[in-house]
Amino acid sequence: MTAHPTLGEVVRPGDEDYERLRRTFAHIGSPAYVVRCEDAARVARAIAFAREEGLPLSVRGGGHSGAGFGTNDGGLVIDLSPIDRVEVVGGPGHLVRIGAGARWGEVARTLAPHGLAVSSGDTSTVGVGGLMLGGGIGWLVRKHGLALDHLVAAEVVTADGRVVRADEKEHADLFWALRGGGGNFGVVTTFEVSARPQAEVTFARVAYPADTGAAAVLKGWRDVMREAGDDLTTIVHVLPAFGDGAPAMIMITACHAGDDPAAVAPLMKLGEVLSEEIATVPYAQVLEEPSELPPAWRPLVRNRFVPCFADELADAVAAAVGTIPMMLFELRALGGAMNRVPAGATAFAHRDSEIMLSTVVLGAPEDHEPLLGDFEALWRMLGPHTAGAYGNFLTRITPDDLAATYPAETYERLAAVKRVYDPGNLFRLNANVRP
Ligand SMILES: Cc1cc2nc3c(=O)[nH]c(=O)nc-3n(C[C@H](O)[C@H](O)[C@H](O)COP(=O)(O)OP(=O)(O)OC[C@H]3O[C@@H](n4cnc5c(N)ncnc54)[C@H](O)[C@@H]3O)c2cc1C
Repeated sequence: MTAHPTLGEVVRPGDEDYERLRRTFAHIGSPAYVVRCEDAARVARAIAFAREEGLPLSVRGGGHSGAGFGTNDGGLVIDLSPIDRVEVVGGPGHLVRIGAGARWGEVARTLAPHGLAVSSGDTSTVGVGGLMLGGGIGWLVRKHGLALDHLVAAEVVTADGRVVRADEKEHADLFWALRGGGGNFGVVTTFEVSARPQAEVTFARVAYPADTGAAAVLKGWRDVMREAGDDLTTIVHVLPAFGDGAPAMIMITACHAGDDPAAVAPLMKLGEVLSEEIATVPYAQVLEEPSELPPAWRPLVRNRFVPCFADELADAVAAAVGTIPMMLFELRALGGAMNRVPAGATAFAHRDSEIMLSTVVLGAPEDHEPLLGDFEALWRMLGPHTAGAYGNFLTRITPDDLAATYPAETYERLAAVKRVYDPGNLFRLNANVRP
């Protein structure tokens, strides 16, 4: 730690904690300052300093931004991890106050003894801040909606250092924009959410071969999900054969939030089963701890929403398995509570999709370089089936990705809010909405 006349205690290059704090989940930066903030006042000081010095500014919750927005070179990082309290307030709306630096695993563990949960993602170490502000698509998305659908209020430090409360009544424009507009509008220090009653869940996994019969399994999964109730959320991974001898495989993972093992049974008979497992567990237990990435890896991730998962798309995905080395597909079943929220009610506009389709290319950027032509060709071929993108599952945000994340009407409304709260575009290391 270094004592700084304006910022107070900061971590600078050469300090003991610097090596750890310059890194995020998949990126290593070289910021000039990391300010570990314990409250809104300190966030406001850090914002003022970055603004006055003209420094690039990263806002870091859990540090899992795939695009690496949680660190930078030569700028300032606001590290919110000390603001990690999870407080169950209670009342009829099951109010919970969550510090913006908390991780979803901790939220789930704290709420479990109260019989409550907040829909989040699939991973315990992902931060509350980034996931909540971008959307939050996880194991309870069909049952309880997006993470941001639970939000009832936020404490926000704006670009001019004001600390404001945003909810349906106060700063309602900001409250709308925060729910889907990411980190564009200020630094959220506390989220107030309405948790939902949630007992244990049935968690199941079944694997099928992907070298033959893959399209039939994908269509079978789709048909099961079209008949399923909101309690059932599933994610499909279509994996290529890896060098360690693992064959190409379709892995269907299911979370039944109503604790009924029979509800997952139709997913277990879609083809020749390679392996299967099923267990009833607390929701907190289904959030996985990701393994650490090899140091040079920066997975290349792109996604699009799919309004209707047609046979032709299932055929195209099945035919593409193994055509790009180290690339896997992920298909998330959407619908249910997520889609019942009107598209304009929050800045997350994509409320009419059947699935989200993502590709993840593992490896380092130099491994991706020769594959980019095939990667773009693949997405051009998939394009006609897709509409809209999820900003939190993008590692390189191209102009097309940005336009897909924020449809024109949403973008214009977000830009109007940006002009009010961040006219100088101080918060620009994100899926950026220009004032
Ligand atoms: C292993 C892994 C698994 C994932 N699984 C899922 C999943 O199942 N479902 C899903 O929906 N997403 C998932 N994601 C994506 C995840 O939602 C985003 O990467 C998200 O941005 C991570 O939030 P964070 O706080 O950890 O990241 P950070 O890198 O800390 O933050 C990302 C960005 O969010 C903004 N931000 C964060 N906190 C604040 C704040 N308090 N105030 C203002 N702006 C803020 C900033 O712009 C920041 O740069 C996953 C990502 C990874 C790496």
